[in-house]
Amino acid sequence: MKGKIILTAFLAGGCFIAQAQEKKAKPEDTEVYTPVPPEVKPGKKCGDAPSDAVVLFDGSNLDQWVMADDKSPAKWNVSKGILTVNKQAGNIETKKSFNNYQLHIEWRVPANITGTGQGRGNSGVFLASIGKGDAGYELQVLDSYNNKTYTNGMAGSIYKQFVPLANPTNKPGEWQAYDVIWTAPVFGSDGKLQSPARVTVLFNGVLVQNNVELKGPTQYIGEAAYRQAHGASPIKLQAHGDKSEPLSFRNIWIREL
Ligand code: MG
Repeated sequence: MKGKIILTAFLAGGCFIAQAQEKKAKPEDTEVYTPVPPEVKPGKKCGDAPSDAVVLFDGSNLDQWVMADDKSPAKWNVSKGILTVNKQAGNIETKKSFNNYQLHIEWRVPANITGTGQGRGNSGVFLASIGKGDAGYELQVLDSYNNKTYTNGMAGSIYKQFVPLANPTNKPGEWQAYDVIWTAPVFGSDGKLQSPARVTVLFNGVLVQNNVELKGPTQYIGEAAYRQAHGASPIKLQAHGDKSEPLSFRNIWIREL
């Protein structure tokens, strides 16, 4: 019998006092056998999708994606196992919506990238797409290898909200990886915010966002705030309007939590 407590109650000075006398604790008292975590086969090498992941892009097609604004078939370019932004076509997003998740996504700025600041390899991962255009919560994608810009707009930033804790950007032409743990915001039936969104981001294996609490969806001008209640949302990739050469993505998978 574990943690058996013998209670003795007696009246003293008009009050009941409970005395607890605990049996000597054993290591087994705090061992837990259920629930048993589900078995998951990890990917063969670091970054590969584990067995329970939903693969959003495996290099072959855009079946899991649509154009974000009109939900027509996604018009970005798939070639040789990689997905390249089509800036003229616009943002794409997942057909499926998600609440809390773990996401893996890899991206590459072309080796011959031109431009400066925000106009050099700009894209973004909207961790929840909540409307047309750039409505959502943007994890910035940018060439941040020797490219100066405002620090809350560099790669690994939660755009205009949180500066990354470090800059582990590889040089243009090399692949980069984001591993994201997203906790969606929760709204009550009255539409009021109950708990804000939180996010942790590893950038090339380096922690750049440590469970930060978002102030609201990304706001390009002005302060962010939760102005609109929403539920599960798609993940959106940005076709930024800058003039630099389009970047590419590969190996995108998600695990719902
Ligand atoms: Mg961007």
